[in-house]
Amino acid sequence: MAAGSAIQIPSRLPLLLTHEGVLLPGSTMRTSVDSPRNMQLVRSRLLKGTSLKSTIIGVIPNTSDPTSDCDDLPSLHRIGTAALAVQVVGSNWPKPHYTLLVTGLCRFQILQLLKEKPYPVAEVEQLDRLEQFTNQHKSEEELGELSEQFYKYAVQLVEMLDMSVPAVAKLRRLLDNLPREALPDILTSIIRTSNQEKLQILDAVRLEERFKMTIPLLVRQIEGLKLLQKTRKPKQDDDKRVVAIRPTRRINHIASNTEDEEEEEDHDDVVMLEKKIRTSSMSEQALKICLKEIKRLKKMPQSMPEYALTRNYLELMVELPWNKSTKDRLEIRAARILLDNDHYAMEKLKKRVLEYLAVRQLKNNLKGPILCFVGPPGVGKTSVGRSIAKTLGREFHRIALGGVCDQSDIRGHRRTYVGSMPGRIINGLKTVGVNNPVFLLDEVDKLGKSLQGDPAAALLEVLDPEQNHSFTDHYLNVAFDLSQVLFIATANTTATIPPALLDRMEIIQVPGYTQEEKIEIAHRHLIPKQLEQHGLTPQQIQIPQVTTLDIITRYTREAGVRSLDRKLGAICRAVAVKVAEGQHKETKPDRAEVGEEDCKEHVTEDAKPESISDTADLALPPEMPILIDFHALKDILGPPMYEAEVSERLSQPGVAIGLAWTPLGGEIMFVEASRMDGEGQLTLTGQLGDVMKESAHLAISWLRSNAKRYQLTNASGSFDLLDNTDIHLHFPAGAVTKDGPSAGVTIVTCLASLFSGRLVCSDVAMTGEITLRGLVLPVGGIKDKVLAAHRAGLKRVIIPRRNEKDLEEIAVNVRQDLTFVMASCLDEVLNAAFDGGFAVKPRAEQLTSKL
Ligand code: ADP
Repeated sequence: MAAGSAIQIPSRLPLLLTHEGVLLPGSTMRTSVDSPRNMQLVRSRLLKGTSLKSTIIGVIPNTSDPTSDCDDLPSLHRIGTAALAVQVVGSNWPKPHYTLLVTGLCRFQILQLLKEKPYPVAEVEQLDRLEQFTNQHKSEEELGELSEQFYKYAVQLVEMLDMSVPAVAKLRRLLDNLPREALPDILTSIIRTSNQEKLQILDAVRLEERFKMTIPLLVRQIEGLKLLQKTRKPKQDDDKRVVAIRPTRRINHIASNTEDEEEEEDHDDVVMLEKKIRTSSMSEQALKICLKEIKRLKKMPQSMPEYALTRNYLELMVELPWNKSTKDRLEIRAARILLDNDHYAMEKLKKRVLEYLAVRQLKNNLKGPILCFVGPPGVGKTSVGRSIAKTLGREFHRIALGGVCDQSDIRGHRRTYVGSMPGRIINGLKTVGVNNPVFLLDEVDKLGKSLQGDPAAALLEVLDPEQNHSFTDHYLNVAFDLSQVLFIATANTTATIPPALLDRMEIIQVPGYTQEEKIEIAHRHLIPKQLEQHGLTPQQIQIPQVTTLDIITRYTREAGVRSLDRKLGAICRAVAVKVAEGQHKETKPDRAEVGEEDCKEHVTEDAKPESISDTADLALPPEMPILIDFHALKDILGPPMYEAEVSERLSQPGVAIGLAWTPLGGEIMFVEASRMDGEGQLTLTGQLGDVMKESAHLAISWLRSNAKRYQLTNASGSFDLLDNTDIHLHFPAGAVTKDGPSAGVTIVTCLASLFSGRLVCSDVAMTGEITLRGLVLPVGGIKDKVLAAHRAGLKRVIIPRRNEKDLEEIAVNVRQDLTFVMASCLDEVLNAAFDGGFAVKPRAEQLTSKL
């Protein structure tokens, strides 16, 4: 250890917090690292550092690193061991962790903690060497005597061991060669000592104290050994080795490959693993590879990084469900009932799902289309997927694909890659443990693309029934049969799904819900679910339908029911507080009146609080059930977020309401126009796409060419609308990119209003593409758009005549609330958009023909 004591450690050390085992100077320890700060230390210091200095870290014993990044650092043990990180082995199985091999150099004490994140760093003072200098003059004799005594015991102990073992012989030589002051630390780590004892030795900074504390430990070990030798004479040799040399390979420089207990244990594990491989039902090809790997594993020293990798690989291979599946129970009638019970409305989707299941029942062949549910968020796509798994009695697993931009996410990393792991498909199979689960590929429209390959291309192989019986994950490197897996995909829009992928799937559109449907869903499904989650009963809380309608119209603006669900959750939380307070009050009847005062804040004016006249009434909190009306709603959710603003905004000429389709459902969209003196320029704002800009130019051209017919003039009375005039068109919600041709009719109407100075009817919304000749062409997303108009409380909707057939999909009650105007040309649109129609000046030639 002479070299060790000459080492000067840096004055600032990163700290590794350990709670298992104590590292003493001169010995070596293997420690597993998986907590956030420790992992960060390994990554940024040990894996990135290039100098010898960067591999020196401070090991703090008896202190566990918090499992979360944001937790505060616990109080650190005062004294630690500066250590050299000799080896780092990383593994991702079963969770990401590193195994460090560290060798203790010397003691240090923490002077000041410099930073805590991302890993702790402290200013430290080296203790061992200092001690040596300061104590040099001090009682040399006493120390000499102590160290002599210690040395004798140490020699006695080692000589009791089997000298034919090379490590023991080497240890004997080391006793003579090493400086005496290094011996207490080294011998403490060799003999059997508890962590507590080791900690005491570490804390014993003064040499003298350290010698004094270690001698009794040595004596105890010698006595134990003597006893053992007496009682088990015949098997003496073996026992000696087991009892005393166990940690021999932990001594610095002596680390040799003697087989010891741990390795035997590991060997047993490998034998077990081999047995498992042989008895597992993996494919022949996989078996061949596994047996080859296990043969390699047996020959590999355990400290080799590849050992852990190979073992992880083999363990995964054994765990995979090669041949394990659940039995399908498919009964169409039961499936229909289950789907109906779990989901209200969405008839088209349920019908298609039942057809799909029926075909599966009749023909036990899985090669069918992959269903892809496309619709706005919160309309129940995922939950239908879950119901399908339930009806089939299969396991369900969701794979979120949003933002995945690396093909190895799907197909795994090759095993040569550091930190390699299988892809999500194989990982999912391992999680569910059967080979025929329902996999829900969520958000396929949000797959990304990057330099690391295209994940959509990898998915093609997974989804193609012709290919997926031999899907090869890069990590496994053998084919796995995915043909039993039932894949269902979900997306918000088909526009961003790669065409090749789209081609493999059957698209089922799931449109948004009407207000009535939302109310029903809330009362049948969401409210009971929320009550259960919050431990409430209908006797404690009552949410009438008008309140639900209020939540839907004034607190949410969405096609699905997700924020409605969240708002209901917020209400339940608020009521839970009141109910819990009530129960508290119940146990303390004398304070009941005070509690009641509190509760009244949330209780409605019409829910009459009953008087608490006699004590019997106190058994039940008096104001149950708590009725949620609009006042309570305001108390809990705050002032309404959305108010009907439509009529206010249409109080000037030059504003019209369009209908837009977005992946989040339909929306109403205001179009605003203004004119000013200028040189005939058109300014467009509101993040418009190219198609939308073209629509605006078309609209202006059409109006200019028809200005005389409609008596439209600019400010100076000229029919040339752009003469000395600039036009500015704005589409509010400027942060959202908008594109598509369907705003054509709205722009025309808006400009017609601007130039005629007349107001567009405040309850009319419209959609439709226009042509230069003034025709109105059909557009998509009619159902979502109409629902949006209905949500916004509009009364009349102008749609292209060729879209009339799309109205059949819309619920009758919505259709009853609205008047539809079918338009095939712009004249019809303008006539319907303005109160009293939009007068056309009769053409001169028509007049002459009449004469
Ligand atoms: P998506 O996958 O379409 O974004 P989810 O399936 O996550 O939506 O649905 C959100 C929540 O709304 C779930 O709790 C679901 O049970 C509920 N939900 C949606 N539609 C319905 C419906 N028609 N009937 C009952 N619950 C529904």
